[in-house]
Formats: sequence, C-alpha cells, structure tokens
Amino acid sequence: MSLALEVCREGSETLLHGEFGTYPPKGTRYALSLTWTGLHIQRLVPKPDTDHRTVVRLVDVAGCHTLRSRVLADRSAYFCVYAYPLKKRKVGVGAGRARQRTARTFQVDGAKSYADNQVVAEKWVAAIKCLVLGIPISSETEIVPGLLPRPRRLMLLLNPFGGKGNALQWCQTHILPMITEADISFNLIQTERANHARELVQSINLAEWDGIVSISGDGLLYEVINGLMERPDWEEAIKIPLGILPCGSGNALAGALNRCAGFEQVMGQELLTNCTLMLCHGAVTPMDLVSITTLSGSRSFSFLCVAWGFISDVDIESEKYRHMGAARFTMGTVVRLASLNTYRGRLSYLPAPDSGGHRPILRSITMSANGSLPFQRMPLHRAVSDMGLCEKRHAYSLQGAEPAEEPAPSPNSPPPSGFQPSSFNFEALHEELVADGEGPRLANPTVVAPKASPARHMHGPPDHFLAPLDQPVPKSWVTVEDDFVMVLAIYQTHLSADLIAIPYACFNDGLIHLCYIKAGISRAALIRLFLAMEKGTQFEQECPYLINVPVRAFRLEPLTRKGILTIDGERVEYGPIQGQIHHNIANLISGTPKTKITTF
Ligand code: ADP
Ligand code: MG
Repeated sequence: MSLALEVCREGSETLLHGEFGTYPPKGTRYALSLTWTGLHIQRLVPKPDTDHRTVVRLVDVAGCHTLRSRVLADRSAYFCVYAYPLKKRKVGVGAGRARQRTARTFQVDGAKSYADNQVVAEKWVAAIKCLVLGIPISSETEIVPGLLPRPRRLMLLLNPFGGKGNALQWCQTHILPMITEADISFNLIQTERANHARELVQSINLAEWDGIVSISGDGLLYEVINGLMERPDWEEAIKIPLGILPCGSGNALAGALNRCAGFEQVMGQELLTNCTLMLCHGAVTPMDLVSITTLSGSRSFSFLCVAWGFISDVDIESEKYRHMGAARFTMGTVVRLASLNTYRGRLSYLPAPDSGGHRPILRSITMSANGSLPFQRMPLHRAVSDMGLCEKRHAYSLQGAEPAEEPAPSPNSPPPSGFQPSSFNFEALHEELVADGEGPRLANPTVVAPKASPARHMHGPPDHFLAPLDQPVPKSWVTVEDDFVMVLAIYQTHLSADLIAIPYACFNDGLIHLCYIKAGISRAALIRLFLAMEKGTQFEQECPYLINVPVRAFRLEPLTRKGILTIDGERVEYGPIQGQIHHNIANLISGTPKTKITTF
C-alpha cells in the first residue's frame, strides 16, 4: 500500500465512536467519531434538516479535560475539548481569518453509575490527548489514561521588556490559559535584567524540567542556549527541549516554526497563538547550532544568524524605535536605505557537499572548491502564583467550565511557495574567488566591544572545521573579497517573523546559508529584494548581486574599520568572526514531528 493511501486510511479510521449530550443541557444529542485527524460531531436530536456535521481538527486542539458536576446526584461524567480553529474575522476587525477559542463540553450519560460514565469520559480524553501529543494509538489499542505521559513541567522565562513590553500581558491573556488547558505545569519567571536568564539556566536542576520556554524575542533564547552551553554538563543540558513564544520585536525562530507547521504567515498575537498551540502539542525536533568565535577568543552558540552590514545596521540602529514593536525594522530599513553603506570584507567558507539537486549554486560552488568533508523552586525566583496570575488547576469542576461553543477572545491563522532557484552565472562567480588565505589581512582589526561580553567559560563540541582566527583558513575553503551591502550567515528560514531569508532552510539541515548582497546593487533593486522576502521569493528575481551558498563553516573578516556585527540579533565585538555548524545538538519544541533527515 502506498504511503499516501496508508495515511488516508489512517486519517479516516474511526478510533472511537459514541453518542453524548452536551453541557449546558439543551436536549441536544450528538454522535461523536474520533479519527486520527479530527473529532467529527454530528447532531442527532433534534434532527436537523440537512446533514449537520462539524469537525474539530486535532491540529487546532490545545487540550481536553474530564469534568464532574458539583451536583452529586448527577451520575453523568463530562469531557471538554479546547480548540482554537481559524474562523473568519468579524466585519470591521480586519480581513482574513483568526484563531478563536471554542470549548465544547459533552455529557457522558450512557451508564447508570457515575463511575462507569467517568471511565468512558476518561477514555475519550485519553484518546484525544494521545492524538494531540503524537502518541501512537489505533482502533486496536486499549485506550486508558495510563497511555499518557505525566504532565510536562516547563520553565517559562519572560522578558518584560521584549518587543513593546507587553509580554506579561500576552502571557496572561494568551499563553497561560492555553497551556493550562494542555495540562502543562509551569513556573513563570520574569527576567530582571539582561543575562539573568543565562545565569539562571546555568544553575538549575534540569532533571526537574521537561523544557525551557523563552517568552520574548530571539535574544532571550540566545541567552538560554548560551547559559546551557556554559554548564559543565553542556552535552546533556543542551538536549533539554527549548521552546519560544514570540513576544519580542525580532521573532525569527517563531516565524520559522510557524512556517514549518504549515500555518499562514502571521504576526503579533496571531503568531503567539499559533506558537502556543504548537507548544501544547509538544513534539520536539532536533536543531543545529552554530558555534561562533570572535577575535578576543569569546565563543558563543547561535541558532539564528550572524549579520554584517545592512541587516545588523537596521537591527541595532532601530533599537530607538523599540516602542513600535516589529515595525521598528521597517522604520530602520527606510532610514538605512537613505544612506546606504557598503563594506569591504573577506568572506571565506567551507562549502557543503551537494545537499539536494534543487540549488544549482550549491553544485557549482562545491565543484569549484573541491570541498570534501569529512520541581524544585528556587526561592529568589518568583513563581507565577506570586504575581497574581492563574495557577495550574488541579481540579476541574463544571462551574469552572465554559458552556459549549462559547467563543472567548483569542486571535489568529499554505504556506511556502516553492523555491525557484535563480539562474547562476558560474564564470562570474569564479572570477570573484580568491585563493584561500592569500589575500590582504585586516592589519589591525578594530575591536569595538559595544556591550562587553562577560568572560565566561564556554564548553561545547570542538570546532573541527575551523583554524584559529589568527591563522589562514584551510586550503579547501573558498574566499571571496569584495564590497558588500550585507553578509548574512543564517540557519533558519526567517530573519524576522515576516521576512523569509532562506525559504528551504530547515532546523536541522546541517547547513549555514551564506547569503550576501554585493555592492553595486541599486536602491530600487534592494527594495525589491526586501519586499520579495515577505514571501521568500527574492531568489526568483535572479538578481546578480544576491548570492547564496550553503556551507558548513565560514569566516568573515571586515576590512572596513567601522561596522556592526550581530549574533542572533545581539551586537558583538566588531572584527574577524567565524563559525561552524554543529548538527542536531539542540532540541526545539516545534509541535510538528516533521524533520528533514540529512546525512552529515
Ligand atoms: P526583542 O526581540 O524585543 O529585542 P529579545 O528577546 O531579543 O527581545 O530581548 C532583547 C534584549 O533584552 C536581549 O538582549 C536580552 O538579553 C535583554 N533582556 C532580557 N531580560 C531583560 C530585562 N529584564 N531587562 C532588560 N533587558 C533584558
Ligand atoms: Mg532581539
């Protein structure tokens, strides 16, 4: 049987079937069928004129609970399904669709005793939760609550100053209600200063947690990753599932997760709702990290990008427009375009071996370069309960449950257009390639430390591909010396929630995508490229100034004395910088079990 047929059969296989009433009781009765992908609800009484069916898609479900009436004489048991389907927005609120919360409560009353009804309610809850969490079941499985893992315990780290500063408010209105419905236990900690999260994760007992979730922009996750890598037990520590809930101004990883899940590209609270839903589903995907070394010898681990030139200028210079949220980047782009700078530099890289036939640039470069490869709470941390927020509920009662179909305010919303590679002028590029290590060096590299990075002991895997920064790059590397508008070494699809830099990048493709724009590009062409990045179609423009090469390692030596370098959006010392990929060393809570398997 083909895989497609198999999926189709599994998708339509009925795992459970039953007839139930609803809460509040209105005399209506429904036939429920649970398949791999959805809960099919058909009204039986009163019989509708037309076939009246609704389907709650399991991808939209955050959780499911059993409930009991406060009236002891009530022998019914109840279960409630919490879902966030996409619905048309109300007129006047804006076009398109947004996620809206629905809670549907069903009454199990087929047996004479409460205990027997409760067994049935628990079976439905267990089956729905198994499907939401990706625990394999079939119609042959004896479905019992014991199939479920214990509730996850997550450490939530929240930067109250991320983005426009509304992370705490969004946490209360969006995140906590949803993760409570998903039975996630949590401790919410507000960071009190930069590097607080980094220090905190260095000393926590990781065995007490099933994951660490950053509620901010990309900068807070960068802190968490580097704090984990500073631990003596880094190898194990970095395996803890990491999550991100976008409440910052730069939410690139959240944008990448949203795309990977197949959701429409959205921003703001809608992106947050999508990401919280994925967190509730909990599937974990391996993720590559890139180890970055600067001239002073400091080493850090990056999950997003190293940027130089236009991108890092906009990122850092737009800090003053922080009150605008994500719009600060648009503002910064306009300002930077008006005084477009170019930067001279030397870019060297170790090309990746052919990693797919859809990128001709990759094959050409590889040939030319001959790149062969070898629950204890710490007293000083405030828990959510200390901040007057809702705590995880341990007991549920019908008085706390919502009536069926009552929508509560909560927002939200195929994706990727296929990537069309640009035609590639191999001769032109070949002329730009300089023999490795032979070109002029930055005699006295200017090291400007904007935010003195504290001396830290960074552990981590050895960088086998890299030579020390004061020595030439290995012979198998390719070197390009040129004037650049920007150089970006990126390992995710997104540069921000609405800018797709590399449409086909994947969390664990084992690749650094070196993407650079050479000087000589007109402002109009640059604007066209940035506008196309909203959909990730910039490579279709076949702009000769835009180059993209998949590599395993790179070195960037700025030859222009002043400039801004960033790692994951955080400013670092200016000067030579290099990095190499470390395949699959971290784990990301992606909510979707999709991963691209790559041989490394
Ligand atoms: P944004 O996308 O809005 O920039 P980030 O998550 O990138 O949000 O955070 C921005 C910066 O704030 C990071 O450098 C991070 O280290 C720092 N930071 C984290 N917590 C705090 C805090 N409590 N006060 C001030 N800065 C903080
Ligand atoms: Mg940031």
